[in-house]
Parts: sequence; C-alpha cells; structure tokens
Amino acid sequence: MSVTDRDCIFCRIVAGEVPSTTVRTTDHTVAFRDLNPQAPVHVLVIPRRHVDNAAALTHGDAAMLADLFVAARRVAEDEGVADSGYRLVFNVGDDGGNTVAHLHLHVLGGRQMGWPPG
Ligand code: AMP
Ligand code: ZN
Repeated sequence: MSVTDRDCIFCRIVAGEVPSTTVRTTDHTVAFRDLNPQAPVHVLVIPRRHVDNAAALTHGDAAMLADLFVAARRVAEDEGVADSGYRLVFNVGDDGGNTVAHLHLHVLGGRQMGWPPG
C-alpha cells in the first residue's frame, strides 16, 4: 500500500490524470460515475489515499471511512435515490468480483436490486 500508485487507475483519477465524471469531492474522498454502470445510478466513492481493498483497512482509517460513508449518503441524496433505496458494495478478491485494486464503494440505485447478488 502506498499513498499514491502511479500504476493505479483510480489514483490517476484522483490526480486528475485520467478523466472521470466527478459528482462529489471531500477532504478524504472522490466520487465519480462508473464507466460501465450496472444501474441507473452507479457511482464509485474512493479514498484519495491508495488502499488496496476493504481487507487492507485498519482502525487508522476510521476518519477516512466515516467520510467515505457520509459521501456515499450524500451521493444517494443528490442522485435522488435516498428515499427509494440503494445498495452499497465493496467487492474483495476474485470471488468477490474485485477488478480494480484501489478501495471503492459502489453506490447503486434507481432500480430494484436482486438478492442474492449475481
Ligand atoms: P470492482 O469490480 O468492484 O473492482 O469495480 C471496479 C469498477 O470500476 C467497475 O464497475 C468498472 O466499471 C469501474 N471502472 C473501471 N475503470 C474505470 C474508470 N476509468 N472510470 C470509471 N469507472 C471505472
Ligand atoms: Zn490507487
């Protein structure tokens, strides 16, 4: 884990080196639209600091995580799905379906979500 990773696509989005459709920024986080949306609302909320995935988090990440979850709630409000409901997802590892190795919280809404997930 490093503060920023030159080879990490999401670190490069945070740095402004790769374009994204940003919807919200905070001291600790950046939220932007998923390139391949799986629902009418599909936003990723990521920490500015590189963290590999949810399994790499420690108690030292508490302030960042609070900011991440508050940002996700505000995204849901701004996107108009706070009342209808939405899903928050962290994928971890291969079986979890994780493809980008920079922590990201999926905010999915605007349709009925299935359970169990695919
Ligand atoms: P995961 O499979 O949980 O690791 O989620 C990675 C997500 O990042 C996928 O939903 C991709 O569509 C999305 N993604 C990958 N590259 C970009 C990008 N450059 N801009 C926006 N979203 C991206
Ligand atoms: Zn990164």
